[in-house]
Amino acid sequence: MKTLITEEQLREGIRRMAGEIQTCYEGKPLTVIGVLIGSVVLLADLIRLLPIPLKVELVQARSYRNNNTRPGPLVLNLDLLSSSVQGRDVLLVDDIFDTGHTLWELIPQIDELGPASVRSAVLLEKQGRCEVSLKPNFIGFQVPDEFVVGYGLDYNDLYRNLPYVAALEPHEIQKESNL
Ligand code: 5GP
Ligand code: MG
Repeated sequence: MKTLITEEQLREGIRRMAGEIQTCYEGKPLTVIGVLIGSVVLLADLIRLLPIPLKVELVQARSYRNNNTRPGPLVLNLDLLSSSVQGRDVLLVDDIFDTGHTLWELIPQIDELGPASVRSAVLLEKQGRCEVSLKPNFIGFQVPDEFVVGYGLDYNDLYRNLPYVAALEPHEIQKESNL
């Protein structure tokens, strides 16, 4: 495993992103929606850097299953969101923008609940992977096309608690999937 983004770099990048988000939403009714599970560490740090009134919600949208690093079906649970979304500005927060399909599928579903606007913030954008005509509005860091873990991102449900972002070596993925 090799470290890509240190704790210190994460702090700086998230502070910068929070500044941009604050400027965008000052004086507006904001609802921040974290995409489970990977966004929870970013969400907790980000909202504490936003000194503006906001609501917090969560949606489930898992596309990675077990030791498979390829996307599976997206599981969404949007039932309870309506009153926090209708007429409000919505900021979706996710851990990483890879192919873009997660946000591409999620945004129209949020749109159906009648928000004033929907934007997205991601900690990481993986370079050269996007397959949709959509870009996150707020991006913390660019990462190379490698499998990354830490700061909320998992491999096989592990490593979310690492305080930094690291890339797994190909042999580490191979080794663990044989366990
Ligand atoms: P997308 O739909 O943009 O292809 O993928 C977004 C989701 O895939 C992320 O929220 C994350 O759960 C998962 N994902 C994509 N790339 C990685 C990666 O390198 N590491 C981990 N842990 N998850 C990833
Ligand atoms: Mg995810």
